[in-house]
Amino acid sequence: MSLSIRWKVTLAILFALLCGFVIAGVLAARSLAEQELAQSGEALQVSTHLIALDLRPLVTASSLPPIPQLQTIVRELSQRARARVTLIDASGRVLADSAVRDGDLAGVENHRTRPEIEQAVATGSGTDLRASHTTGERTLYRAVRLGDPGAASAPLYLRLGLPMTALEHELTILQRNLTLAFGSAFLIAVAMSVWLARSLTRPLSDITAAARQLAGGNLSVAVRTSSRDEVGLLADTLNRMTRELRSKIEELSEDRSQLLAMLTSMVEGVMVLDSKGRILQVNPAWERMFGVTRNEARGRQSSEVFGHPKLNALVSAVLAARTGQEGEILLPSGRCLNVEASVAGGEQDNEACAVLVFHDITELRRLEHIRKDFVANVSHELRTPLTSIKGYVEALLDGGKDDPQTSVRFLDIILKQSDRLNLILEDLLQLSKIESGQVQFKQEPLHIGSVIERTIAMIKPLADKKQHRLIAQVDADLPLITGDQERLVQVLANLLDNSIKYTPEGGQITLSARRLPATRTGPGDGVELMVSDTGIGIPEADRPRVFERFYRVDKARSRELGGTGLGLAIVKHIVEGHGGQIHVEANVPSGSRFVVRLPA
Ligand code: ADP
Repeated sequence: MSLSIRWKVTLAILFALLCGFVIAGVLAARSLAEQELAQSGEALQVSTHLIALDLRPLVTASSLPPIPQLQTIVRELSQRARARVTLIDASGRVLADSAVRDGDLAGVENHRTRPEIEQAVATGSGTDLRASHTTGERTLYRAVRLGDPGAASAPLYLRLGLPMTALEHELTILQRNLTLAFGSAFLIAVAMSVWLARSLTRPLSDITAAARQLAGGNLSVAVRTSSRDEVGLLADTLNRMTRELRSKIEELSEDRSQLLAMLTSMVEGVMVLDSKGRILQVNPAWERMFGVTRNEARGRQSSEVFGHPKLNALVSAVLAARTGQEGEILLPSGRCLNVEASVAGGEQDNEACAVLVFHDITELRRLEHIRKDFVANVSHELRTPLTSIKGYVEALLDGGKDDPQTSVRFLDIILKQSDRLNLILEDLLQLSKIESGQVQFKQEPLHIGSVIERTIAMIKPLADKKQHRLIAQVDADLPLITGDQERLVQVLANLLDNSIKYTPEGGQITLSARRLPATRTGPGDGVELMVSDTGIGIPEADRPRVFERFYRVDKARSRELGGTGLGLAIVKHIVEGHGGQIHVEANVPSGSRFVVRLPA
């Protein structure tokens, strides 16, 4: 188990305090004991001196008094000095002792070897502290020699013994008081050190809590501390680090969202690969192109995802050569993609090594195809009448001109082919003008009824020629439309002309106009025109293509009927130029129906 800093600090302070208190207590107790002992020693010395003075007559007398008298004297002196008094002769025999009964005196051990006596014999005085052999109490002894060193009679030794019991009792009380005082001080110190450790470590705890929140992703956290020391500095640094981290993360996420917006809004598909060909990133356009989601693609080998040999070869080439590559691939869906692969340089796993950009060029290729077809068609369409004209002119030059009948027939054919050539060129010119925006459609309010009337009047003779029934069905509540009357007449005339051409004699051609049903393009906001016939009809597969330039279902028949193959292309452009739409469908039971919708 690891201790928190607070507890470490608290325990360290307490340990230091405990050591301090114990050492201080022991030293104080010892010095007090020594002081007491020194004081007792001094007092004992004075007492010994005074008693030695009292005993001086005894020493100077020629003989010592009998033992019982001596005992009485030492007991008296002992009471005065409040100490045990012992009188010892030069051989160490105890002559009198205040602590020994008279009868026991003879049995008292010789004291010559007592340390204080030995010192007194040698120096005149001696001191010792020990347990008494006689009383068993710890006693402080002081011995002095009585009489002069040079005297004829043998010297006597006076010894005072001060029992230490009282002193030791006092010292015990002192120690107890000291322990009590230090114990109380220690308890106060415990409380103080806990408080101190808490206040010292609180900023650290705050910093720890803030760091935890930071690690949990909360970047708005801030450490509040008023201390100016290292902890304050640490808190400031942490706050600054948090601010910088926040601003860096904001900057990064801003960059990321901009990058994401760019990638998401791109029409081109983007795929990022690492050096091993694993897909790291793709954008939504890529997902749409390949029908694979980002989650399915990421982390997988690109070759696994595509299974397209040409694309896989291109990826392998980029990764192997580490140079940009370009190619074009055709997807099974029919989409044509241009692939541009560039090297990003990453060599580690999960580092961008190659970036592939896919452009969908299906429309471009389709337009190119149409353009090529158009050029081929124009050449072909122009060459046919020209070849015919050239042929007949050569025939005239070769002698045909000499026969008036033949020359008139040939010249008639040449004229017809020239007219056809002229017609094609006129239609082409008109188409090109409309396409390039050179033709400005008028914007005038029109009654569609009057447009229909004009067209019918114009077309009726043609219809009559082929004995067609021409029927006009015009609703009464048609809204006004805005547009160019001449051009709209051209549209209807073209459609009716086609119906007449492609319907065998005696057919029925109907031109109807009605307000657009409310469900289609809003409530009555347009006009729907329909040209239906009972003619040969258009096979379903050809219907979407009849509006292309030079597209004809039956080329020979169209040419024979004087068609250029450009009529419906012009019609489509005029209708779309008016904001409308045109399509063709099958008429029931037979024939075709062209439907034009124009906005009001
Ligand atoms: P064309 O000058 O050949 O008539 P268009 O552009 O007007 O050229 O028409 C294109 C082709 O559409 C025609 O060649 C013909 O095959 C077909 N087509 C147009 N209108 C009709 C129709 N009413 N019935 C059958 N086929 C039609």
